[in-house]
Amino acid sequence: MKKLGLNGQIFFAAAAAVALGLFAHDKNIDHALYAANLVGTLFIDLLKMVMIPLVFCAIVTGIANLRQHSQMHVVWKTTLLFFATTTLIAVVIGLGASQLFKPGADLHLEMFADAIQQFETKQLTLPEFFTQFLHGIFMNPFKALAEGNILAIVAFALLLGIALVLSAERYPHLLAVFEEGMAVAMQMINWIMRLAPFGIAALLFKLVATQDVSLFASLTKFMLVVTGTTLLHGLVVLPLLLWLLTGKRPWWFLRQAKQALLTAFATSSSTATMPVTMRCATQNMQVKPEIAGFVVPLGATVNMDGTALYEAAAALFVAQLAGIDLSLGQQLVVCFTTMIAAMGAPGIPSAGMVTMVMVLQSVGLPAEAIAILLPIDRLLDTVRTAVNVEGDMIGSLVVQHRIEKLAQQTP
Ligand code: ASP
Repeated sequence: MKKLGLNGQIFFAAAAAVALGLFAHDKNIDHALYAANLVGTLFIDLLKMVMIPLVFCAIVTGIANLRQHSQMHVVWKTTLLFFATTTLIAVVIGLGASQLFKPGADLHLEMFADAIQQFETKQLTLPEFFTQFLHGIFMNPFKALAEGNILAIVAFALLLGIALVLSAERYPHLLAVFEEGMAVAMQMINWIMRLAPFGIAALLFKLVATQDVSLFASLTKFMLVVTGTTLLHGLVVLPLLLWLLTGKRPWWFLRQAKQALLTAFATSSSTATMPVTMRCATQNMQVKPEIAGFVVPLGATVNMDGTALYEAAAALFVAQLAGIDLSLGQQLVVCFTTMIAAMGAPGIPSAGMVTMVMVLQSVGLPAEAIAILLPIDRLLDTVRTAVNVEGDMIGSLVVQHRIEKLAQQTP
């Protein structure tokens, strides 16, 4: 019999875990849950362990090597344009779907009084959030590395990469250290991925077996609208953009991206998934390490289409629950705040729920309403994180294509 490849093992394990989780739901399975928690957490910990050195080395070498082709400005401009455009499309889809299907139309806030009462919101206004976001960008790099503060690590690595570029050939050894650091980190990721079938299965088993289903009935329509539109964005819009911009076929992309998408689905964390995303981009899709090294880590921190779509759809849903009709102006405010909120959300489970408070407050909606959404968030977070990660990989392919095209044009 042919030996099952890693992709096959991951799929088989994931499907078996979901089936087992459904079977074990509501049963007394404390020991199994303990084991699943242990294995799942171990897998995430291992990914996080290599993630920090990898991000740091990848960005520094990425920037330093891009300069050799004098393409740095094309890379960052294309990256930011791609991220902003796709996030905006996601927000518009989220708002449009909530308008069209009105998932909150027959529901009222009072129906959820119990859930809301238990909830205390952390007040975070847009200006406060913005200050906090800006303040978090620059800090002592050792502190940032120790705390795993990705945004600050990205910022410092960018500056260090630029400094290496500007000082031309003066520090070749330092650059070589980072290059070798990245190569070694990728080697470690290849080892960690051998555990992926177990880690992913454990996480999915725990998710399915412990899911609280009490609120599902009244929120089914909302969940269907959000999941349906997130899938639309991930399976139609983003692949279509990839095809239009690079000529690469969607199924080719999905085949190469499978491991990262499944890891994101199971971990609900784009940051923890980042090593796998880098691996898929560089090893499966042949994106140059200097391009993936810039686009993927940056994307994992600021490019979150799934989160943006969710927050926009959820804001309108809450407005419908509260019986408030948002004007066009207010919807534009939601659109803008959602883009900032998605950008500022760290790539960890349920981060979108925290920054959503700000979106609700921007148009005077009751922030406590997110208490209704919390019980279903872990489930919705799976698909939206996968789409967040997908956007980063497609971004790196688009940027690479643009660079290649420019190189052909300039002899
Ligand atoms: N879990 C998401 C991510 O890591 C963020 C969120 O929307 O909660 O990308």
